[in-house]
Amino acid sequence: MEIEDREPAKIASLRRQLLAWYARNRRDLPWRRSADPYAIWVSEIMLQQTRVAVVVERYKAFMARFPTLLSLALAPEQEVLALWSGLGYYRRARMLHKAAQYVAGHHQGNLPVSSGELRLLPGIGAYTAAAIASIAHGERVAVVDGNVERVLCRLEGWEAGSRKGGGAALRRKIDDLAAQLLDPAQPGDFNQAVMELGATLCLPRNPQCLVCPLVSHCETQGEHKTPSRPPMLSREVAHALSVRMGQNPENGPGQSGREVLLEQRAAALTVMPGLWELPTLLDPAVPEQELRMTVRHAIMQVNYYVRIRTVFEDDIDAMTVPGGERRWIPLGEAAGMALTGLARKVLTRAHLLAAASRDDDVL
Ligand code: SF4
Repeated sequence: MEIEDREPAKIASLRRQLLAWYARNRRDLPWRRSADPYAIWVSEIMLQQTRVAVVVERYKAFMARFPTLLSLALAPEQEVLALWSGLGYYRRARMLHKAAQYVAGHHQGNLPVSSGELRLLPGIGAYTAAAIASIAHGERVAVVDGNVERVLCRLEGWEAGSRKGGGAALRRKIDDLAAQLLDPAQPGDFNQAVMELGATLCLPRNPQCLVCPLVSHCETQGEHKTPSRPPMLSREVAHALSVRMGQNPENGPGQSGREVLLEQRAAALTVMPGLWELPTLLDPAVPEQELRMTVRHAIMQVNYYVRIRTVFEDDIDAMTVPGGERRWIPLGEAAGMALTGLARKVLTRAHLLAAASRDDDVL
């Protein structure tokens, strides 16, 4: 049942069944309670490469602090990054912030309406533009993310499940099919329905075909062949955790005025520029008796095995790699700073910050 063989009646039936299923089964997510294009934009950027369960609380906090595009545009970047902490891929936050400033300056604070105009903004690609325009304004434009791609490939019986792996020809076929199936009367709901199906039933492993509303339309009815992923790499690094009694006893409620030493990553770095992290130890081989904790932290295709050693203030210079600007930060302030995900995780696990990150493992 290739694209060209789909009869209009079958397409209509597929749309009906999918939309009915979505109406009954859609998850109650905070961004689905709003038709505000700005709110949809924020949620779509957060959801790129981050799981829904992680995004929900971060989204609520972000929108509570930046309820409008203008409030985001006027905020200092460090505050935006601090609110993004735990979501990773900080470039997304920087681009969102820059685009908000651009819209505030050039569009009187109103996001453009059409997907074509949205795509002209920094940091908004085809997917995000289609999601905002279809959900907020009912534009008939299909979204294609990883979930949609998997669902469509399985419906058609196409083996390659990755647009990268399948190349440009497969990408065109998927885009064409998505456009053909899109419900012209409810494009926003239809787009969300396909994504929801991919996120909840048509899973990469063990798809729930027995309860799938599209089973009668599906060529594959199960897992399909996908290109193998490159294996994760492993790296070992070590950081110093140095805490002292602060100079100002009024710092930080309940923190006894303690301060932690943090170092700012250089602005010219391509990875996490400007974020605050723990100083790097010169010797990654931390003796067992000095080991405070070992944390596993994944960044893109690399699993970092991170050893954390407690270092006294007087030993810091001798034991760590000279880096960017260092500051003793009151613990009460550290939580609100633009910390790297790893720094936040370590401080949380050391009970120096309120619990925040639970994504990776302490070994
Ligand atoms: S029948 Fe199975 S493989 Fe096909 S779309 Fe539904 S969940 Fe996915």
